[in-house]
Amino acid sequence: MEKPVALLLALSLAAPAPAQTPPDQSRRLREAALRDDVAWDIVEGLTTEVGQRLAGTEAEARARSWAVARLKSLGFSNVHVEEYRMPVWVRGTETAEIVSPFPQRLALAALGSSGSTGDAGITAPVVAFEGLDALRAAPADSLKGKIVFITHAMKATQDGSGYGYFGPIRFQGPAIAASKGAAAVVIRSVGTDHHRMPHTGQTNFDKGSAAIPAAALSVPDAENLARMLERGKPVVMHLVLTPRSVGEQLSGNVVAEVPGSDPDAGIVLVGGHLDSWDLGTGAIDDAAGVAITAAAARHLLDLPERPRRTIRVVWWGSEEVGGFGSKDYFARHKQENVVLVAESDFGADRVWRLRTGFAPADKELGDRLAAALAPLGIASAAGTPEGGADVEQWMEAGVAAFDLNQDGTRYFDLHHTADDTLDKIDREQLRQNVAAWATTLWIAANSSGRIAKTRD
Ligand code: ZN
Ligand code: ZN
Repeated sequence: MEKPVALLLALSLAAPAPAQTPPDQSRRLREAALRDDVAWDIVEGLTTEVGQRLAGTEAEARARSWAVARLKSLGFSNVHVEEYRMPVWVRGTETAEIVSPFPQRLALAALGSSGSTGDAGITAPVVAFEGLDALRAAPADSLKGKIVFITHAMKATQDGSGYGYFGPIRFQGPAIAASKGAAAVVIRSVGTDHHRMPHTGQTNFDKGSAAIPAAALSVPDAENLARMLERGKPVVMHLVLTPRSVGEQLSGNVVAEVPGSDPDAGIVLVGGHLDSWDLGTGAIDDAAGVAITAAAARHLLDLPERPRRTIRVVWWGSEEVGGFGSKDYFARHKQENVVLVAESDFGADRVWRLRTGFAPADKELGDRLAAALAPLGIASAAGTPEGGADVEQWMEAGVAAFDLNQDGTRYFDLHHTADDTLDKIDREQLRQNVAAWATTLWIAANSSGRIAKTRD
């Protein structure tokens, strides 16, 4: 059978543009990175030898020791840990059951910074809201003594934009419900799968307001609860959540460098976050990101000549629970000559889009990156890069940034669940990520002149 027209078109679009062949060095680097095993070995090692790495716990401390040993053995310079202290929250018991009218258990997980119901739990009627606007419209004190259920209709997208629309249900929903007197909150997981895997993640209570118990139901359980409510009879839930705060503990950022040849050329700052949520083993979030960026920088160590600029790889601590690592890092280093930042924190599936936030003076650098990445099937797009939570403060200070956006179609099936494990990583797509990052780092680190600030 002949190939359908659509497939022929797709093949011709994927082919490299012959007029824009990048220099040999860039091509050789890209091809070496497409055979990379370093990134896989880092994800495999971290998930097997450490596992979950909840920020501020002894597990994250073990991850830092593991990281230092691995980065030294890979040949990086200046490998060290920068410690700081942070408040730590840990999970306890978590169960939910419908008492009436349809008694059965529901699968759920507490949200980070959730309050406790106490060991005895609470039993209360459930009141449902579709999204935050409906919840905001509820009169003050109208939720007293109720368990608030917030639902939504998040769908999978390649660019992950659904998280921008529906993430606030987790970030803000519990605090809004608390301000109206709710006894507790259960949300439909901010996720796109239909497995009985609740998606945890941080929720934010305003300073001074009490943290009420807050949890995420798995998507199937949230749909089941919605069907019960549709039948019109009062639904009563018994909820037990016993997380607790364990005070200020030690956390830290792990730093490694590929030294540049020109001390005045500035630093290219990249990385991912070493901490993870505690339900899975943090393979896609974010062992993959630390692995991709370190493996990419590692390929530059193999070249005969050092890059002009220093490439600094940081594996930030405690991104998930409030970004204490990136705040500490920026506070310590903001006087340094950092000229370009980026983070990998969106899983391990293939990079499909480049976005640069360069000043007009650096258009040529952006064009060179676009040409060198095209053979990897990466399109260059207009628009401001998002950068990532750990480099946000650098971007706010005007430092240039780039995004190598990964395919997020299945990211929110797994995000912050017990299902975030090594077997979800596709080795070939992981290698394509390493090739994209290695190519980008090499070109950016060797570009001549300064990289302009995006604003003053
Ligand atoms: Zn992450
Ligand atoms: Zn995360």
